[in-house]
Amino acid sequence: MGDPHPSTSPPTPTPAAPKLRAQALTRSFGRGAKTLTALGPVDLDIAPAEFTCIVGPSGCGKSTLLRIAAGLIRPSAGELSIRTASPRPAAMIFQDYGIHDWKTVLANVRFGLDIQRVPRKEGDARARDWLARMGLAEFAGAYPAALSGGMRQRVAIARALAVEPELLLMDEPFAALDAQLRTILQDELLDLTQTTRTTTLFITHSLEEAIVLGDRVLVMSARPGRIIAERRPPFARPRTGDVRSAPEFTA
Ligand code: ADP
Ligand code: MG
Repeated sequence: MGDPHPSTSPPTPTPAAPKLRAQALTRSFGRGAKTLTALGPVDLDIAPAEFTCIVGPSGCGKSTLLRIAAGLIRPSAGELSIRTASPRPAAMIFQDYGIHDWKTVLANVRFGLDIQRVPRKEGDARARDWLARMGLAEFAGAYPAALSGGMRQRVAIARALAVEPELLLMDEPFAALDAQLRTILQDELLDLTQTTRTTTLFITHSLEEAIVLGDRVLVMSARPGRIIAERRPPFARPRTGDVRSAPEFTA
């Protein structure tokens, strides 16, 4: 009789543990007869380095899901867990709020780097680099109140990306931007998340944006907010290597 488990057999590849897992996640607001189930139940696994987009109509619970993932609110039932494997931050949320009006633009972008104890000179250089990428180089010394809404949003984006988070949570970060800037930032974001293999959960109300960005697109319905469809766009970009050398991007 041969050994049923010969040691030479190739190991079965185990799928990587999800970076984020939601199980029967539910969130209600209000109480009694006025209870509103804003979200769920939602089950969701996000694999490491995956770029997942969630799209759905206004009020379907997208921000609620993201706020639970960011630890800003608790679920009413179910669980959400995030697995972190490195000292990089587990999550950053991308929204205009959180910009500190009493700090200069540069200090805002350096904020997370300061928390990570990045040396001042290096932190300044990284923050200035991100400001330049967002087209805000000459606003480093300005105060956010002097900026337009779109520019403030770009400060928030620079601040979130400067810390190179392990898991990026984004709530309609480009919604307030004009189409040209949105396209530039979408490309930047894809490049960055691919080269750093950053797991990304991106919320949008634009199906077009979800398809352009996502390896995977989840569609939510309203009342209660549930995931009703999942698609992998056929032209999702490869997650490794140079995007521009991929066949579909060669002229
Ligand atoms: P989306 O981001 O998809 O537009 P939200 O997650 O913001 O949707 O909201 C989902 C539902 O939950 C909406 O009906 C909204 O009014 C309600 N909701 C969200 N936050 C609260 C809150 N803090 N208190 C009461 N209702 C809320
Ligand atoms: Mg929202």
